[in-house]
Amino acid sequence: MRGFGMLKINSTGWIEADKPAVGPFDAVLEPLALAPCTSDIHTVYEGALGERHNLILGHEAVGRIVEVGKEVKEFKPGDRVIVPAITPEWRSTRIQDGNIPACHSEGPLSGWKFSNTKNGSFAEYFHVNDADMNLALVPDGMTLEQAVMLPDMLTTGLHGAELADISFGATVAVIGIGPVGLMAVVGAKLRGAGRILAIGSRKKCVELALHYGATEIINYKNGDIVDQVLEATNGIGADNVIVAGGPADVLGQAVNMVKVGGTIGNINYFGEGDILPVPRIGWAYGMAHKSIHGGLTPGGRDRMQRMASLVMNKRVDPGLLVTHVFNGLDKIGEALEMMHHKSEEVIKPIVLV
Ligand code: NDP
Ligand code: ZN
Repeated sequence: MRGFGMLKINSTGWIEADKPAVGPFDAVLEPLALAPCTSDIHTVYEGALGERHNLILGHEAVGRIVEVGKEVKEFKPGDRVIVPAITPEWRSTRIQDGNIPACHSEGPLSGWKFSNTKNGSFAEYFHVNDADMNLALVPDGMTLEQAVMLPDMLTTGLHGAELADISFGATVAVIGIGPVGLMAVVGAKLRGAGRILAIGSRKKCVELALHYGATEIINYKNGDIVDQVLEATNGIGADNVIVAGGPADVLGQAVNMVKVGGTIGNINYFGEGDILPVPRIGWAYGMAHKSIHGGLTPGGRDRMQRMASLVMNKRVDPGLLVTHVFNGLDKIGEALEMMHHKSEEVIKPIVLV
């Protein structure tokens, strides 16, 4: 079979690979809808995970099952399923340690397999471990555009709101309003935020942020975002900050703009550098009771079913993130390049296969 991926750092192309074999608990799928992710760009063009040779990319997929292992009980060939970006090993004993999120079941980030430690979904066929625990049926009435935004975009954005621990009426700053940050705006709204200050610049993202629940927009190109947030909050700072985009300095900016005792939820993937700076004075010399929680999005079947419930009950329409639709697997490279060189009009391209 063939797939599209990373030949080495800074280089992409088509790769020939064996059709994946199915283990007893696993499934092999063919793609129905695929989306490239900004994380693929960090991986390929910043070498964020280190070198990878001939790795098929793609971790945002809706697929049709072609084969299941002999122990798979709840899915069968032909089923249309949402495939989470994060597919933990649910039979790992480390999952029984309640303090370790499932996505780290076999070590840091170990639940992130596609396009990291194994071939991803930009291929004629792809493999899913522990199918009963990781796949979720596409509900009747959900569009492919909506469904393919669940594996990563919706769940990650909402995780930003979970990590930031937002309470009713809170003032929340969301740094970055690409597709992940836009879903973080939704998360902040669903968690009961009062004010939501959305930080970004592209017009289309700004419009969608307002649609999804932002109450104010801050353009980072118009001046220091810390100054702008402090000015908007009478010098107090935001109760919570969700970091969903930007270079390494945004973490320090988040520390400077969150109030004393406030919480930062980071979902940004810092692709470059060895050290992430935390400002000494903004952190009150280490004594500001400011918390930084950073996390990989949860995956697995229950999480996908919960995301689907939000869509089917009209709490959110993540399909609005999709700005470009390509047809045919051959177009996946073009869609990936669109994510690489994001123009004003691009939020999220997808490929229907
Ligand atoms: P985008 O590149 O589409 O969006 C980034 C946003 O950050 C844009 O709104 C951009 O503004 C804004 N931004 C850029 N520079 C700055 C700056 N200096 N100050 C403030 N804002 C800035 O990315 P995505 O939404 O696709 O992804 C966001 C991040 O989430 C990525 O790092 C991605 O890898 C990561 N991610 C993490 C996951 C997890 O599990 N934790 C899962 C999936 C993704 P502008 O409007 O000008 O473009
Ligand atoms: Zn992703």
